[in-house]
Amino acid sequence: MSGNPKITAIKGMNDILPPESARWEWLESVVRRVMAAHAYRNLRTPIMEHTQLFTRGLGEVTDVVEKEMYSFQDRQDQHGNAEHLSLRPENTAGVVRAVAEHNLLYDGGKRLYYMGPMFRRERPQRGRYRQFHQIGAEALGFAGAEVDAELILLAVSLWRELGIQNWRLELNSLGQPEERREHRAALIAYFEAHADQLDEDARRRLHANPLRILDTKNPAMQALVEGAPKLMDYLGDASKAHFAAVQAILDANGVAWRVNPRLVRGLDYYNLTVFEFITDSLGAQGTICGGGRYDYLIEQIGGKAAPAVGWALGVERVLELLKEEGVTSPEPAPDAYAIIPDASALPRVMQALHALRAQGVAVQMHAGTGEGMGSMKSQFKRADGSGAAFALVFGPDELAAGEVTVKALRDGAGAQTRQPLANVAAWAGTLKSTA
Ligand code: ATP
Ligand code: MG
Repeated sequence: MSGNPKITAIKGMNDILPPESARWEWLESVVRRVMAAHAYRNLRTPIMEHTQLFTRGLGEVTDVVEKEMYSFQDRQDQHGNAEHLSLRPENTAGVVRAVAEHNLLYDGGKRLYYMGPMFRRERPQRGRYRQFHQIGAEALGFAGAEVDAELILLAVSLWRELGIQNWRLELNSLGQPEERREHRAALIAYFEAHADQLDEDARRRLHANPLRILDTKNPAMQALVEGAPKLMDYLGDASKAHFAAVQAILDANGVAWRVNPRLVRGLDYYNLTVFEFITDSLGAQGTICGGGRYDYLIEQIGGKAAPAVGWALGVERVLELLKEEGVTSPEPAPDAYAIIPDASALPRVMQALHALRAQGVAVQMHAGTGEGMGSMKSQFKRADGSGAAFALVFGPDELAAGEVTVKALRDGAGAQTRQPLANVAAWAGTLKSTA
């Protein structure tokens, strides 16, 4: 044998294998149902975009753009030009690009959702990967606080449908750009007065983007940040009214929240309402979902100005939380397992299985090892292991009679009937699980 070194997956990028992948499919199916209940429609954009979309959209002085993006220069075309491309680190910018590019807002606001992989070159650890998955909901073309609240309630519905209990909701308002300018000056003055306590990141951001300093994860800076001027104190009446309207709708729906004045989110495009769903069950990576309003992003990337609001959840973190909370999900099993004593019967048997599947019956076929089909005993063992409710036995007697033996493996185990292969439609329904 050759001694070729083994090729493994890239660090921080995970294979999602069965049976774990069934959990993903279940979660996705719940999401589709909840999105449909709120009339959010699916949007799919490429996983690669022009780097500019992110540098302009997310902000140059953000963790994601400064150090987490997978960016590269594409090959040169025949004119010697090469494009700067990036794997998407998030998908709001991509959604906004697509909405602007296809003029989706021409006849009014749009409610959209997406699911898919994102890429950030972070230090891999529990709840933090280099390829991870987000599910996001975005409402574009709506300025009212009721849509902020609708999106938050959508997430709450999702937690309920998934069976997640341990979450809390934090809110903040980032106001409007002109309100932020005044706060920014106060922030810079405050941090300059405490320059000796700033870490390297903070010093670099002090003049470029001081609000970012509030988002620091450095424990040594927490006290300093705690005492910083609060944006809330700089909000005008309209911003305050918007925030109060969101809160009133949440209250009317019995959704508990608290204001966290330090919640600024990791990307630059937010204004007015921002929010995060946080859990205490996942250690340091406790934010399962985050979002907010981004009324200036569309214009920022060259589209026609339009208000918008949205959120994204981290699928890996939500699945981990489901595990912590002991939430189970249906485990996939075929309705029937086909037991085939003699390989010579395969063409006839597979014709019958094909017909059964066309009737909506999930059938797992026993497959041999290349040296025959294996003993009946070993085939029945596989059938039991598959979780199937029925075994279909295609023995020589059965086939000679143009029939199959249907044997119950679980409820009423052992009970059996013979069914005609010529008229599969007549009895296929008796095999189908009701799950
Ligand atoms: P964090 O503060 O944990 O780095 P973030 O503010 O960078 O999160 P967002 O950009 O708001 O995250 O992304 C939305 C959600 O996506 C997060 O709340 C989290 O659940 C998930 N997420 C973000 N980065 C990762 C990652 N590297 N691995 C796994 N999930 C992630
Ligand atoms: Mg991050």
